[in-house]
Amino acid sequence: MRLVLLGPPGAGKGTQAKKIVARLGIPQLSTGDMLREAVASRSTSGLRAKHIMDRGELVPDEVVVSVVTNRIDHLDTANGFILDGFPRTVTQAEALDQELATRGIKLDAVLELEVDEDALLDRIRGRAEEATTSGGYIRSDDNPEVFKTRLDVYRAQTALAKLSPHPMRSDT
Ligand code: ADP
Repeated sequence: MRLVLLGPPGAGKGTQAKKIVARLGIPQLSTGDMLREAVASRSTSGLRAKHIMDRGELVPDEVVVSVVTNRIDHLDTANGFILDGFPRTVTQAEALDQELATRGIKLDAVLELEVDEDALLDRIRGRAEEATTSGGYIRSDDNPEVFKTRLDVYRAQTALAKLSPHPMRSDT
């Protein structure tokens, strides 16, 4: 089963993806996690991505597309995968279509999570407070200010892209 999971920041894509992983035994390919790993490894592309991610903006399409296509070629995706947080732009969606076609494979479904924006903001505030009080890990982009940018970017570049003449689609 090859799935794409879409939705605004804070919608719970990661949480839902993990449930699907447990049920179907296919890997979760989260571009956010892969980029955070690149940042942690202090590679040149990781360091470049860090500044963009800290501002809540999108990492350039070519960087993300290359990260995803390399990951799709790992052996553990033989029975499928869940793409979490990719594609987010029309260019990424078209690149994915092309890369899948080259490999002779197709998506089975695209799932979109819809969450009320006030609920998203409450959730992100809660997440930040919880991490602060428990002294736990907090993502550098999980604060109300950057979160607002992530939401704006989602609205402008991902949600609107679905309405474009070349919508993100699961039938190719
Ligand atoms: P969220 O969906 O909550 O914003 P992610 O972990 O999916 O969190 O993404 C964190 C950051 O990683 C994004 O704000 C963006 O900077 C970068 N990123 C993740 N996926 C993509 C993508 N497909 N295209 C461009 N940038 C991405």
